[in-house]
Amino acid sequence: MPHAPGLLIVNANVLTMDPARPRATAVAVAGGRIAGVGDDPSQLAEGVRAENVIDLKGATLIPGFHDAHNHMLSFGLSLTEVDLRVDSLDELYARVAARAAVTAPGEWIIGAGYDQTKTGAHPHRDALDRVAPGHRVWLKHTSSHMCVVNSLVLRDLGIDESARHVDGGRVATDAGGRPTGLMEERAQELVGNLTRPVPLSTLTDAVATAGEAYLREGLTSVTEAGVGGGWIGQSPVELAAYVAAREQGRLHVRAELMVISDAFHDLAAHPSDGIEAGIDLGLRTGFGDDWLRLGPMKVFTDGSLVGRTAAMSAPYDGDPGSGDLSNRGYLQADAGYLAATIIAAHRAGWRVAAHAIGDRAIDLALDAFDAAAGKYPRRDPRHRIEHFAAARPDQVARAAALGVIPVGQGRFATELGDGMLASVGPGRHSWLYRQRSVLDAGVVLPGSSDRPVVTGTPLLGIHDMVNRRTASGAPFNAGEAVTAEEALRAYTWGSAYASKAEHVKGSVEAGKLADFTVLSEDPTAVSPGRIAGLEVIATIVDGELRFSALG
Ligand SMILES: [Zn+2]
Repeated sequence: MPHAPGLLIVNANVLTMDPARPRATAVAVAGGRIAGVGDDPSQLAEGVRAENVIDLKGATLIPGFHDAHNHMLSFGLSLTEVDLRVDSLDELYARVAARAAVTAPGEWIIGAGYDQTKTGAHPHRDALDRVAPGHRVWLKHTSSHMCVVNSLVLRDLGIDESARHVDGGRVATDAGGRPTGLMEERAQELVGNLTRPVPLSTLTDAVATAGEAYLREGLTSVTEAGVGGGWIGQSPVELAAYVAAREQGRLHVRAELMVISDAFHDLAAHPSDGIEAGIDLGLRTGFGDDWLRLGPMKVFTDGSLVGRTAAMSAPYDGDPGSGDLSNRGYLQADAGYLAATIIAAHRAGWRVAAHAIGDRAIDLALDAFDAAAGKYPRRDPRHRIEHFAAARPDQVARAAALGVIPVGQGRFATELGDGMLASVGPGRHSWLYRQRSVLDAGVVLPGSSDRPVVTGTPLLGIHDMVNRRTASGAPFNAGEAVTAEEALRAYTWGSAYASKAEHVKGSVEAGKLADFTVLSEDPTAVSPGRIAGLEVIATIVDGELRFSALG
């Protein structure tokens, strides 16, 4: 029975992602939910006020984009950091010098986004001392898996003259044993400890600023890939920043928060509860509502491919820096400890998101999920492997058999692709960031960016999932390309599925949340090379127009 909706959208090219009705031209919204989908507006709504009708004049409407793996807090903070996405060390040093000129003596200069495969080498402490005398300098690699600091920071840490051992990380040194400023993986925590915790008000602003950018790009949902601690944590109370932003009306997109395994501790629950470790009050996956919800436990098993720290079963393809031909990367902790962490979280009712890049780390994650399911059977635990970057064919089949979702990043092809191809060598190119074989194995494919590791704009991610080219123009394991239709489905329904939220979002169906993205053209109807150039012209969240470039 039609009734007056809050919003009626007409003359739209609706790509619903609902196999039962793939296309429609009108959508009615009431109370933040989709009230009806069809082709005859008069059938969907009657008595709707003229100001509540949006005529899209043929523009394309899809379910709101959902980034299944992003770092919203880091991205928000990065908007105030020095942008180091440059092609030479000279340019990098010039940018640091420029910031130093406007920064008070002794204050921190924080930059992010450099890639040594583009600049030719990592920055060096001595050069940083020269361009930013009297400042503390902290430059983060684009992968977030390493950073470079200057001498003042090394002195604060007491490793000015010689390195210190760090479990799951490394303080790099030159041939004479003197630290170069490069800090890998968990060694970054030493630096983070000097500046953290970041105040809650700063984090709340970061959530708000990031959200504003997301709306302009058509994002209506994001999964935050780790709050609450570890080497990527800004503060142990990061969840409170999201709550505060929401109270202030500044949480602009729906957020699912993964909780870093480092935040887990003994809860002293009853033995029969099966909760060996968790977070306070027994909060776990699923707690929250459609705006803000706790997602999986996030556990890092290894590092990055470009940085050659990810755990591979066979050595990297040479090592331009050190000439080391035996480097297979490393796990971020003892293998038995990592597996036990995954199994305990599964047992306690958490979904688990295991960061695993190299095939040796992927083996570890799959073994742990397999063991967990065998020991503590659970219906549809919906575990995930973040990145699944260098996966052997047998690992795709095994993920499918276990119901584990690989969460890849389309944009990595362009921004990190050349470095990844060099790291693994030609014999393993076909392992990289599989999509086609994942879909063909019957596994749901989500869409994600890992922002701020690379540019997070969903249309860029979709473009790269379809085109698979590196920055230098080389094909990036092109056999794993998917169609525009499949990529769009990944960034909407696939990501909702990876959040176990496909019953409330991810498609334009009556009863689901009224979250939509409106595009200037239909990505499935333009040539693949043009997808990145399409525009987001409106973003609707919870039935409300939150961003609009509509004429
Ligand atoms: Zn990440």
